Amino acid sequence: MQASKRLSAKCIEQLRLEIEDSRGNEVFALGFLDGKGLVTRLEVRARGNKESVLALQNWSGDTADPSDPDDLSHTPDVLIHNHPNGFLVPSDADLNIAGRAAEGGTGFFIVDNTAAKVYVVAEPRRRRKRVMLDADTICAALETGGSIARRLEAHESRPSQLDLMRLIIRGFNEDSMVAAEAGTGVGKSFAYLLPAMRYALENDERIVISTATINLQQQLYDKDIPLVNGALNKKLKAVLIKGRGNYLCRRRLTDALRETDLFDDAEDLERIAAWAETTAAGSRSDLSFLPAETLWSRVCSEADLCMGMRCAERERCFVLALRKEAADARILVVNHHLLFADLAARAEGAGYDSTVVLPPYTRVIMDEAHTMETAATSFFSKDFSRLSVYRQLGRSRYSMKEAQTPPMASSRRVMDFTSQTAGSSALSSGTVSSISRIRPARRAIFLRSSKSSGSRVVVILFSSAGVSRKAHSF
Ligand code: SF4
Repeated sequence: MQASKRLSAKCIEQLRLEIEDSRGNEVFALGFLDGKGLVTRLEVRARGNKESVLALQNWSGDTADPSDPDDLSHTPDVLIHNHPNGFLVPSDADLNIAGRAAEGGTGFFIVDNTAAKVYVVAEPRRRRKRVMLDADTICAALETGGSIARRLEAHESRPSQLDLMRLIIRGFNEDSMVAAEAGTGVGKSFAYLLPAMRYALENDERIVISTATINLQQQLYDKDIPLVNGALNKKLKAVLIKGRGNYLCRRRLTDALRETDLFDDAEDLERIAAWAETTAAGSRSDLSFLPAETLWSRVCSEADLCMGMRCAERERCFVLALRKEAADARILVVNHHLLFADLAARAEGAGYDSTVVLPPYTRVIMDEAHTMETAATSFFSKDFSRLSVYRQLGRSRYSMKEAQTPPMASSRRVMDFTSQTAGSSALSSGTVSSISRIRPARRAIFLRSSKSSGSRVVVILFSSAGVSRKAHSF
């Protein structure tokens, strides 16, 4: 590629002269982008030989004001070096450094000795200067006569609401976690919506708002967010995302219609088919009647049965259309189950930069957080039935020739057992790793035995740091 597409004429000339001064040897430089993505500033940091150059670990530039955390001039956008032989394909060492740099969003370019051609090994991530929230300006919207207050019927300025909002604004500005309890009537949804929407707008970030109930999700999506949008100068796109099972799967509906004689409620199936041709979102809540659970479960979207891009209905698919909408949105309204499903998949290795259940986001607000533990349990836990634990214990007992140890004599025995057998093939690797993650935080765990045959051990793992709360009885 022509270097002029990625570097300004001044930088090309500077690089060419530096390489010439270094007698055609390798030169290592830091590049800084302008707002349009062009390298307009260069700092040469090292000179090497014909084969290599030091890629200095300290990539900080010289011009930053270290007292200003928003001064991004110290963070290079791209690492640049030349290949004297004119062959611009990256070596293994180049790829290694490019990979490390890319983790922090820094790109990697290779140029020839005239700096006329560039090979982009890794694209630089465009950095934005962060816009901080101004607490006085935002709070003014909820004070008497403010832009939000005017839109609310019988609104009264509430000091507790403004205090909560200032706390949340501080959380945004300081990248800190805020936990607050607010009783009914405080007006907490506006206390977080205003800062969140303003922050998402100013910084082009995606923010997730998670609640426990569909009622609150609908209220936020139908009333509160449009109201705040009305008070903002620009409209911020918000999307309400429900669990997948809430949406109709057109492919499954077609399959079901082929087998109507198998359905007791064939009439309702026909009504769903008629509705499918008119509904925009395909959400069950938009149906004018309540279909039987058995019927809906035959036609709703299911992750395991979804054919994705291979599906003949993908162009008209409600779920795929919603994903596209979510990718464009800056506010996602979800429920706790969906959020934890997404976080669990990310923690399992999907990472935080790509779309998993939800598109990537930078901040999360959890309303109705008192139900968080229940929602988290199903995603950050391992379940063991009494039978499977007995079976594993039995297998281990024989394999370790410890027949004298009675299985599951107590919860303490479970912990002893896992510490002895971690790594043993008697347990699945997932089970061993789950239980061994518990050990560092065992003081916080309550494993109790139960005489009831139907109950199970549920171990709650909240984060990679280990267990933070209790486990239930089995
Ligand atoms: S893409 Fe998946 S959810 Fe959509 S219609 Fe096809 S199978 Fe159903």
